[in-house]
Amino acid sequence: MKQLLPTSTAGSLPKPSWLAEPEKLWSPWKLEDQELVDGKKDALRISLQEQCNAGIDIVGDGEQTRQHFVTTFIEHLDGVDFEKRETVKIRDRYEASVPTVVGPVSRPRSVFVEDARFLREQTDQPIKWALPGPMTMVDTLYDAHYQSREKLASEFAKLLNDEARELEAVGVDIIQFDEPAFNVFFEEVSEWGVKCLERAIEGLQCETAVHICYGYGIKANTDWKKSLGEEWRQYEEVFPQLQRSNIDIISLECHNSHVPIELIELIRGKKVMVGAIDVASDKVETAEEVAATLREALKYVDADKLYPCTNCGMAPLSRDVARGKLKALRAGAEIVRNELMA
Ligand SMILES: [Zn+2]
Repeated sequence: MKQLLPTSTAGSLPKPSWLAEPEKLWSPWKLEDQELVDGKKDALRISLQEQCNAGIDIVGDGEQTRQHFVTTFIEHLDGVDFEKRETVKIRDRYEASVPTVVGPVSRPRSVFVEDARFLREQTDQPIKWALPGPMTMVDTLYDAHYQSREKLASEFAKLLNDEARELEAVGVDIIQFDEPAFNVFFEEVSEWGVKCLERAIEGLQCETAVHICYGYGIKANTDWKKSLGEEWRQYEEVFPQLQRSNIDIISLECHNSHVPIELIELIRGKKVMVGAIDVASDKVETAEEVAATLREALKYVDADKLYPCTNCGMAPLSRDVARGKLKALRAGAEIVRNELMA
């Protein structure tokens, strides 16, 4: 990136109400068949337009073509039975009825490559594409086949790598893996989590990112956050390992978070997508608030490696609020950019 402090989002943005019920995760589609295919494309165009209007530098699809950041990818795989459901505890936090791994997993065809190609055709700006991380995928399923989280994760990593290579080939500039599970299963992160992540990015020439956060502003997450105490030091466990990994960029949450910001020092040398927008609140940040978060982060990240971003996806927010937050992000980055160039 030539632009100093290039802005981006963690991934998802709200969908138009004609496509899916707003302000809801896992919202069912309102269209069917060809209308749904066309509707998703139109929503992607609008989402891109809104990012451009707000002045976002690294743009994405706003995840308009997927219902959920993990499930939609898994739906396209063989070996997972969505009819056969078991109740498991996701992120060690909340119970959910999840699909079952019933045989060897494989990816019979590309999942997002056509959508990414479509996005690429719409813009000359750098584009980022998000995929679920292997550990987070494993944590969203009941495994009756491999009966090993590590084995299943390493199989997923290979499939993700195939998908990522195809995304790179259609011109995606940054491929991001969403790994909120890294904030929970520290032992597994050191035993096989980072290894599987590195398997997923093997051979890629484009930039790679990992997004680790405390989740969307849904109740299960806000309740969990209340249990974490005054200081959230989860990042301290995984950052040293990520610092030594081949991942180029680390995306994390900062604003309104109880994460001690100095923990970013642990990933010194990496590019850092600093969450300067709270996605768990409808209150739109002021440009000055965004700038204040970025200035703090600059104590631990070199200016040419700082990428202002949102804490997490904004799918559950209203479109107005999300629009306001995108503009605030840009305006806050602008303030600090001017200070750095003065
Ligand atoms: Zn997130």
